[in-house]
Amino acid sequence: MKNYVCQVPEFAKANVFVNNPELVNEKLANLIQGGFHKLQVVSDFDKTITKQHQNGKIHISSFGMFSSCPSVTEEHTRIANEINKKYAPCEVDPTIPKSEKRRLMEEWWSQSEDSLRGLCVSREEIEEVCARIGPELRDGTKELFEELHKADVPVLVFSAGLGDTVQAVLKHFNVNLPNVEVISNFLKYDNEGRITGFKNSTIHVYNKNEVALKGTDFYKRIEDRENAILMGDSLGDAAMVDGVETVKNVLKIGFLYERSKEALPEYMNTFDIVLVDDQTMNLPKAILGLIKNSFNNLGNGKA
Ligand SMILES: [Mg+2]
Repeated sequence: MKNYVCQVPEFAKANVFVNNPELVNEKLANLIQGGFHKLQVVSDFDKTITKQHQNGKIHISSFGMFSSCPSVTEEHTRIANEINKKYAPCEVDPTIPKSEKRRLMEEWWSQSEDSLRGLCVSREEIEEVCARIGPELRDGTKELFEELHKADVPVLVFSAGLGDTVQAVLKHFNVNLPNVEVISNFLKYDNEGRITGFKNSTIHVYNKNEVALKGTDFYKRIEDRENAILMGDSLGDAAMVDGVETVKNVLKIGFLYERSKEALPEYMNTFDIVLVDDQTMNLPKAILGLIKNSFNNLGNGKA
């Protein structure tokens, strides 16, 4: 088997950590063998497609962009801050069992949904704010997405954040291409333009999994794609395709930035490849390059 981890220059960088190079080589070989028509990409949004920081500042989240809309009332902001202050520490508390965390996350999301009801924040206003103050995408994201579009590879942007702002940012950077599907929490409006809640059942950190998409049109598009490249910045993101029987080979890429020293061992146990403070898509692009080159070689008469 080829040793891609040693041969691809992007792996040699000091901020790239691979726990089990043999396993990664095996997974890469499977991706290459399957080619683009067996591939799907599943990615988190906040701090995965967007940069984790820029100019010394942590980037604004999808909910943060919404809160910055001028029509959001002070009352909403006050309540939202209170709710977040209560639940955010629970999400990362290692002493709370997973089942309890799941219940707490459901409480958090349902209270957030309640706090949105009655607000009049139009889609146009959201798009305008996202374009003005929204985060930048990782360097190379546009090229990566265009390459995936050309190769007809479905991309699932899976976000427990707010879908309306996720979509607005993707639109602003011209990467909401036809092969891209955003699964997230989308706002529902009444005829007077008031927000009435979320459109579907909520997606939070602990139910963010492709299994939940069974039966949807998007699921039909990925059913026969047994290879997946998964990208995320939270440990929970690594489980986005767990339990999906049709996916046989998943290469998990984790982006780590905050508290990287203490978190690195757990990230390395959870993701196949960990990129520490890497604000680019260079490595995912290099992996696509491997798949593409092998396809070109086959096309040039080797097969
Ligand atoms: Mg994230």
